Amino acid sequence: MKVERLPTHDSFNGWTNSLSPRQYRPALASDTRIPLLIIGAGAAGLAAARSAAILNPNQEVVLLEAAKLGDGASARNSGFVIDLPHNVGADLNDLDTLKRSLRIARSATQWLSELVETHEIDCQWSPQGQYMAAKSKQGSKVLDGFIKGLDLLNEPYKDLDRSQIRAGTGLEYYHRAIKTPGTVLMQPAALMRGLGDSLPSNVRFYENTPVTHIDYGKTIRVQTPLASVVADKVILAVNGFAPFLGQLKRQVFTLQAFASMTRPLDKSEREALGNPSNWGMVPAMAFGGPTIRYTMDHRIIMRSFWRTHQRDTVSKAAYADSRALQKKQINARFPMIKNDPIEHTWTGQVALAQNFAPGFGQLAPNVFSAMVQNGVGMTKGTMAGKLAAEMASDKHSSLLDDMLALGKPSKLPPQPLLSIGMFAKVRWWEWTSRFER
Ligand SMILES: Cc1cc2nc3c(=O)[nH]c(=O)nc-3n(C[C@H](O)[C@H](O)[C@H](O)COP(=O)(O)OP(=O)(O)OC[C@H]3O[C@@H](n4cnc5c(N)ncnc54)[C@H](O)[C@@H]3O)c2cc1C
Repeated sequence: MKVERLPTHDSFNGWTNSLSPRQYRPALASDTRIPLLIIGAGAAGLAAARSAAILNPNQEVVLLEAAKLGDGASARNSGFVIDLPHNVGADLNDLDTLKRSLRIARSATQWLSELVETHEIDCQWSPQGQYMAAKSKQGSKVLDGFIKGLDLLNEPYKDLDRSQIRAGTGLEYYHRAIKTPGTVLMQPAALMRGLGDSLPSNVRFYENTPVTHIDYGKTIRVQTPLASVVADKVILAVNGFAPFLGQLKRQVFTLQAFASMTRPLDKSEREALGNPSNWGMVPAMAFGGPTIRYTMDHRIIMRSFWRTHQRDTVSKAAYADSRALQKKQINARFPMIKNDPIEHTWTGQVALAQNFAPGFGQLAPNVFSAMVQNGVGMTKGTMAGKLAAEMASDKHSSLLDDMLALGKPSKLPPQPLLSIGMFAKVRWWEWTSRFER
């Protein structure tokens, strides 16, 4: 079948643009027969390739990426390696699922942490924890629920008031925040580069190699612009592009998330902020306020704008609207910055299932999926890739049981109901959490 839509990532990603230029790997140019093929080189595909190569040291693994390493969502996110699900407290009757999610996230964080250390990946890796902050009464109520969940899970946290938040971040804006210690902050484009450049030697990694046709059967047959691949097994790690490769067609929907990055704050601005060390903050109401980073190199990253855009390219107006909102949010929270400090505004895809279950597992005897990370791909995507490689290598672990127990994405309504529903849902989320904007 023809792959109906290929990724078109913008070139505005501030994380990538603040790194030095990189030599990219050449595209696949000769026909190949291979035991295991992996498609997509984000967090999930890179983890799958590494894991498969380690589990099968005498076998070559081919990894194909449509664009360049670090073009996808994994390099354009807010850089939180999050251990706790955002909705701890939302369903306290399902502690089992929360515990499984925690085990998965913590194993992923541990693995990434070891890789960063072993391969000396320079990506601002910083186990700082995170603030979950509220400005309004409504937001504070969400934090009450969050605390209930943390107590039940026996997880440590600090319940901070305005002055304590100011002491840690320099911000006056929020009246309450829960600080949890398990999140790691990092520079996602630098992490993806480091992971891609340190793959085991039995991984053949080709960039600029979109899969344009794929046929599933006893073997997997794939066409790319210059060459074809025949594989015994495939791991799909293309995130929200799954339906275009003929999988999870009615189970995944995508949103575009937008972020802006400022220039580094100057000395006087940093002093006015209280010279904090780097920190990360998520909003109490997930779709309401911004996710904020203050980085080691003194930049602010604000992720706060959503669109339901489903086409190939995102309109200029959406970037402009996102930038305007983020400028306003920066001004409100960092009044010491007088001019417009934004240097980059970009967008990336977030793939979601209606019931927030992962699009993970075996789709056919020789087809495995590490797709649909529900907005927390740094941990869940990494672990989905690692465990999909285990499955494809006929290996088994208790973490694989945890992942499989998280269930399957539920079925979505058909078009155009889906698009209308998504549009309404995003607007509803924005409206109900408007006090946190
Ligand atoms: C602005 C923003 C902020 C976010 N913040 C966070 C955060 O702080 N923490 C967190 O955990 N998550 C965050 N997320 C979500 C996270 O980035 C994703 O969940 C994660 O990157 C998904 O990883 P992945 O490997 O599944 O997909 P991707 O990183 O999207 O990788 C999929 C790859 O498949 C490739 N591909 C697609 N089709 C084809 C084809 N036909 N042929 C070959 N290759 C193909 C794509 O080019 C892409 O590189 C954020 C997302 C955005 C956009």
